[in-house]
Amino acid sequence: MTALSPGQTIGILGDGQLGRMMAIAAAEIGYKTHIFGQDPESPASQVASEITLADYTDREALRKFARAVDAVTLEFENIPVETLDFLEPLVPVRPGRKVLEITQDRHLEKSFINSLGVPTAPFANVESSGELRDAIERIGTPAILKTRKFGYDGKGQVKITSATQIEQAWKDVGGQPCILEGFVPFELEISVIVARGIEGDIQAYTPVENRHKNHILDVTLAPANILTTVSNHALGLAGKIAENLDLVGLIAVEMFVAGDGDVLINELAPRPHNSGHWTIEACTTSQFRQSIRAAAGLKLGSTVHHSNAVMRNLIGDDVDHWEEILNHPEMSLHLYGKTEARPGRKMGHVTRLFPLNTPPKI
Ligand code: AMP
Repeated sequence: MTALSPGQTIGILGDGQLGRMMAIAAAEIGYKTHIFGQDPESPASQVASEITLADYTDREALRKFARAVDAVTLEFENIPVETLDFLEPLVPVRPGRKVLEITQDRHLEKSFINSLGVPTAPFANVESSGELRDAIERIGTPAILKTRKFGYDGKGQVKITSATQIEQAWKDVGGQPCILEGFVPFELEISVIVARGIEGDIQAYTPVENRHKNHILDVTLAPANILTTVSNHALGLAGKIAENLDLVGLIAVEMFVAGDGDVLINELAPRPHNSGHWTIEACTTSQFRQSIRAAAGLKLGSTVHHSNAVMRNLIGDDVDHWEEILNHPEMSLHLYGKTEARPGRKMGHVTRLFPLNTPPKI
């Protein structure tokens, strides 16, 4: 299998800020990008070489797209599996169908993780309010009801603290297929981003701590302040998951760390991740460049970090501070080109580096 050469084109399914930063990273190493999305003014469309505006199920558009690119990758996981089924015979798609199918459904994802002997919170599949009642009897409260598909940033989730909330909770999730998950009294949330290359080579970034506000990532501290044994354990679990997914690309593995250092997997994302934005400034190879290397069939780059870092998201009106941030000599500002700063919308992020021997501070 030969790698793509500079000047060839990587197709990216999805047109958000992750696609934007992937396209920028691709351009840095001489590749063109072709975004398949729906918005001509999207964050990724603004920086790509080409765009196709069409629905993910538009076969004619997909056929033309496949002809125009040399490999395809994705920047979000809610692409229909049928889209990959259609593209895969026409052009290399990395990561492929198996990874997408598993990671877009919480039940398949958690079942897969447990099948590897890797722990998650206890969970049960729920397809009716009756099944929810049975699941609560088994798992107990507090618990979280999560839609199997299309959940992000806490959307499609309801916390249940008593069996009296069953009917309301089932209504709140719109009566969709769900999982009920036991509530984990975690000490810390961390994530590990791991890449796997076309030849099976694996490279992981150091585990980072993630702090959320209103269910949205607020701050990432790199590295996480955890014992080396916990860090190595987390890296081992992420590597095992990447290998067993036959991944070619990147996955972010979100984890809960309990007070006793026990690690449980929360969820997987088969793409660059918000908790990896710090790698742009702090690592030899950023997560975006790494995802492009994997998609292009290149060997992976080193994930070593030369600095510690703090990354803060700019959500909604936070973006009004852009000038202040730009005027700070040690802050690296990234804006995603979104015009409307709606509450809860990720408008950009800012990264600050610290020496390796200094713990990252907010
Ligand atoms: P998710 O969309 O599954 O990543 O959940 C969003 C956030 O909700 C997580 O980052 C946690 O802060 C919290 N959360 C999710 N699942 C659980 C759980 N089983 N126990 C405790 N907190 C959870």
